[in-house]
Amino acid sequence: MNELISIIIPCYNEEAVIPLFYEEIKRQSDFMQNKFGVSFEYLFIDDGSRDNTLSILKSLAETDRRVKYISFSRNFGKEAAMYAGLKNASGDYTAIMDADLQDPPKLLEDMYKSIVDEGFDCVATRRVSRKGEPPVRSFFARLFYKLINKISKTDIVDGARDYRLMTRQMVDSILSMGEYNRFSKGIFGWVGFRTKWLEFENTERAAGETKWSFWKLFLYSLDGIAAFSTAPLAIASVAGFIFCAAAFTMILVIIFKTLIWGDPVAGYPSLVCIIFLVSGVQMFCMGILGQYLSKTYLETKKRPIFIIKETNSTEDIK
Ligand code: UDP
Ligand code: MG
Repeated sequence: MNELISIIIPCYNEEAVIPLFYEEIKRQSDFMQNKFGVSFEYLFIDDGSRDNTLSILKSLAETDRRVKYISFSRNFGKEAAMYAGLKNASGDYTAIMDADLQDPPKLLEDMYKSIVDEGFDCVATRRVSRKGEPPVRSFFARLFYKLINKISKTDIVDGARDYRLMTRQMVDSILSMGEYNRFSKGIFGWVGFRTKWLEFENTERAAGETKWSFWKLFLYSLDGIAAFSTAPLAIASVAGFIFCAAAFTMILVIIFKTLIWGDPVAGYPSLVCIIFLVSGVQMFCMGILGQYLSKTYLETKKRPIFIIKETNSTEDIK
């Protein structure tokens, strides 16, 4: 039997690009089918779109047996969509690809060859430039990668996209991480395996618009930090230590000053400043604790990561 490649495509309000994407992926897979004798399935995950995404997917599915779709009951986010895709992909190899053609389908050929001929478990992509992205966004993205790589043991690669082709073994390992707070860029690194990196220039979205506002990305980066590092929890201890040391020194200074010069220990303004500073640090540390507590709270609830409303897949849906 020939090998099957599953392509997972998370889609949220992507009516403008799906037809373009489908043409491209079809061209690429027909080409690879002829060249390597591999077959394909396209697993579109409709992440609660409010536009015509689902009806476009349905009509594609009528004409092409390779097209499968899973439609969520509401928008659960790209992480949930990728997880649903990985769970339901039946391929020997599985790729994740954005619907907006920012992930060039033609790289699939090299990815497949690297896995089959060179023995890699995974071929991932990273963009070497951030051309076309607002400078402020690039700046904070870079800052985030620097920070998280300092405080996390898991390697999280700057500029890495979710676009990658993986073996069944790696997909199963990823699925064994059933956490609710999913941060795939960390999960991919955490599971290990031999990964080859392909680099490419950033391309802009083919049509439609980005689903990620700056604020959404900021919250996502906090999720990533909470999911793959516990370093912020240590801030409270470090700050506590520093403040104790400072307080102790100040006490000594005041005692000596009073004993030697009979200083009346005036200083209302400095006292106010110190109280503000110390309570600020305390609040900040409590906030960090709260972050981890809330993540733990959500984790312990064991809520499903996504809910499927409808699908055309005839296999058992997980
Ligand atoms: N996406 C999704 N659910 C969401 C947001 C995005 O499935 O809640 C999908 C989206 O349809 C696209 C991919 O994730 O296929 C990447 O999104 P986008 O291109 O908007 O992000 P950007 O490339 O701007 O970072
Ligand atoms: Mg995009």
